[in-house]
Amino acid sequence: QAAFRRDLARLLELIGTGKESLSFMKKRIRHLAQQWLRAARRLEQKLAGRQRDQKHILIHIGFLTEESGDVFSPRVLKGGPLGEMVQWADILAALFMLGHSLRVTVSLKELQSHLGVPPGRGNCPLTSPLPFDLIYTDYHGLQQMKQHMGLSFKKYRCRVRVIDTFGTEPAYNHEEYATLRGYRTNWGYWNLQPTQFMTMFPHTPDNSFMGFVSEELNQTEKQLIKANKVSSMAVVYGKEASIWKGKEKFLAILNKYMEIHGTVYYETQRPPEVPAFVKNHGLLPQHEFQQLLRKAKLFIGFGFPYEGPAPLEAIANGCVFLQARFNPPHSSLNHEFFRGKPTSREVSSQHPYAEEFIGKPHVWTVDYNNSEEFEAAIKTIMRTQVDPYLPYEYTCEGMLERIHAYIQHQDFCTTSSLPPSPKTKIPAMQSSPSLLALSPNSTHLVWSPSAGRAPQAWPPVASLQVWVSEPQHTCTETCRRHGLVCEPTFFRFLNKEEVFLQLSIACDSTEYEMNHLYPAVAENVHECYLQKEPLLFSCAGSNAKYRRLCPCRDFRQGQVALCRDCL
Ligand code: UDP
Repeated sequence: QAAFRRDLARLLELIGTGKESLSFMKKRIRHLAQQWLRAARRLEQKLAGRQRDQKHILIHIGFLTEESGDVFSPRVLKGGPLGEMVQWADILAALFMLGHSLRVTVSLKELQSHLGVPPGRGNCPLTSPLPFDLIYTDYHGLQQMKQHMGLSFKKYRCRVRVIDTFGTEPAYNHEEYATLRGYRTNWGYWNLQPTQFMTMFPHTPDNSFMGFVSEELNQTEKQLIKANKVSSMAVVYGKEASIWKGKEKFLAILNKYMEIHGTVYYETQRPPEVPAFVKNHGLLPQHEFQQLLRKAKLFIGFGFPYEGPAPLEAIANGCVFLQARFNPPHSSLNHEFFRGKPTSREVSSQHPYAEEFIGKPHVWTVDYNNSEEFEAAIKTIMRTQVDPYLPYEYTCEGMLERIHAYIQHQDFCTTSSLPPSPKTKIPAMQSSPSLLALSPNSTHLVWSPSAGRAPQAWPPVASLQVWVSEPQHTCTETCRRHGLVCEPTFFRFLNKEEVFLQLSIACDSTEYEMNHLYPAVAENVHECYLQKEPLLFSCAGSNAKYRRLCPCRDFRQGQVALCRDCL
């Protein structure tokens, strides 16, 4: 039985010393300790004594190992990407607060010793059973484990969770398919269950949303912040000087109305990219950065970095976040940063989560090519009153709740919890529930309680709704348009001929094939297709030829990772 922890001291010891990155994480954990403790107490009450097994968990932060180059640690003090460090610190805190038994490694030697690989021997099967129920790592760590566990890697990979900021779509994860269809990337094709990959934002429902936290304010603090806001103060998003290059025009407009602050790293001299009229504070310690945000009215992004934690922190501290719309959207097809990343996702602005999940009045996404629109936005923002706002899923309680649910319910090792292997069971998918059409003309099916006992599944099948996409639409978009979220674990329930029938879709032929867009129908020729390879079930992906069958589900307000009955 796992017991919620009452303090974080032991975790700080576990994390170890000797790297700037570790000091950054420990400082963050210390600073947020009270928030974690309060959140754990609230979740404990909510779960009302429910049985939770204590798991033995290894956390191997691969990108911090010398063997992977550890380019991050030396950059922590220089404004390098801190988002990853923020997320790892929060994952450590959450797993620890939930009462699990943790081991943390940031070197290959420690990894080998914890896995039970004898020193000097790599690539051999482990001699004793793996002493961990779960392993949280990243792509670097995954590679290291594969190299050092030999054949045992295949046996134990179901216990691995991969922290993967931007996400990995099924088409890129499946080795044979990626090779045949040109989806191979440098990140590899690991044939994991796609929900074993865990992202920074809930942008890719094919993966699990891990997230991070931002500091939550009480009512008094919120009032104080509102009272002390300086309506003419703006902070520019980004710690690296390069983001200011070519932004003179916007800065000149902004400077007409507001005092501009920056937190750009510098050694001795002011970076030449940052104009003289900007008050540059240099890279600030995290809590001082929060203080700056508390005074500022506007947090403004110039297009980079993508999808970091800072805009959420700014909004939580009562700023309005102004950012550029990307038209056309940035993606691995047209932008250097995303090139070679295992995703086809189209990024519509610097921070799509802020744009889509938060929006106005906290977030303004405008066309920066249109100076008038840009200027008008600044003027309106200066006049608008906004309250500090933090979505529940980014509070400590929200993160604890989500990780608790994953640990309790996500099981990639027991075969009954997995989709059937294509070679043995498809097409006879015995475990599928019956579905009931809402009306004969509708393109929409819901689970009908009268159709029999629901199969055991998590999320529970009662939250399933099936919608047919428009051609050229992904299932991610299709579900979102109906106020729902795509749930890839439900594909197995609709990958059946009778579902086409229930949806009144005429099929002259039905084929099983390996294609990440299936199940789908090519409407003009009445050809229906079912998925032959469950690992390829994918919310992402679209094609003008197909209308896809999409498994959607409801979600808890402010916690999109969980359906209403998911806790
Ligand atoms: N940050 C900081 N000092 C600063 C500016 C930012 O400590 O002067 C922190 C900020 O609180 C945030 C983290 O850096 O949690 C990551 O910020 P960002 O959104 O820029 O993401 P990144 O590109 O670093 O991953």
